[in-house]
Amino acid sequence: MRKNLRYLILLLILLFVAVNEALNKTRSTSWENPLWVRIYAINGDGREATDSYIDSLTTRSFEMTEKFVNREAGRYGIRIDAIDVAYNGRLQSGPPQPPSGQSLLKNIWWSLKFRAWATYRGWQSDSEAGDVELFVNYYDTETAQSLRHSVGLQGGLIGIINAFADISYNGSNQVVIAHELMHTLGASDKYTLENLPIHPQGYAEPYRNPLYPQQKAEIMGGRIPLSAQVSKMPESLNQVVIGSYTAAEINWPIE
Ligand SMILES: [Zn+2]
Repeated sequence: MRKNLRYLILLLILLFVAVNEALNKTRSTSWENPLWVRIYAINGDGREATDSYIDSLTTRSFEMTEKFVNREAGRYGIRIDAIDVAYNGRLQSGPPQPPSGQSLLKNIWWSLKFRAWATYRGWQSDSEAGDVELFVNYYDTETAQSLRHSVGLQGGLIGIINAFADISYNGSNQVVIAHELMHTLGASDKYTLENLPIHPQGYAEPYRNPLYPQQKAEIMGGRIPLSAQVSKMPESLNQVVIGSYTAAEINWPIE
């Protein structure tokens, strides 16, 4: 009996979150006003090198992401600036990290904790909240060889990004930030388990002849396909576009 009650409560919370997110998503992807994207930095490993990298961050550090989305929105006929990106500073502690496994229940539980954390943080903060809030954990390249995956809650308007605290990663960090931003607005991944972009939806130019090598990556395809089996990471958002499948998911007009 107690167990049933717990499930009922969990179901009600999930229903509430789902309805809330459907409303948010409609509001956030109407593209009538610029969407405010606010970025927060967190020192992920407590190292001094990471601290001094974070000290160097300003809104200009994230300009590429803003320009990229607005340039692509323009291609789809959006006449206003689609997004306005600003850096809202450093946080002393970060959001709960996503579980490393594939367990559905653990993932649901984590996403609820993350939402609760973001809401609570917003209440306590003086800075103006964004429509979308992205939390970037930075790690020193001296000690971190690989990073945990980044997650943008699909339609949830919040995301966690794990990034390298090194200027040489600025370009690729912004590719990850833009990718997770698209998730928060409802876009889905367009690559296989082997990290290969899926044709046609994960390709920048799906109907190009010859098909390979592609010159650019599609933002949710993630990589530049050089052949059917080989792909490479884009170095910056200059090598990335938003394809029509992703555009449709975030409610941009497509012919
Ligand atoms: Zn993704």
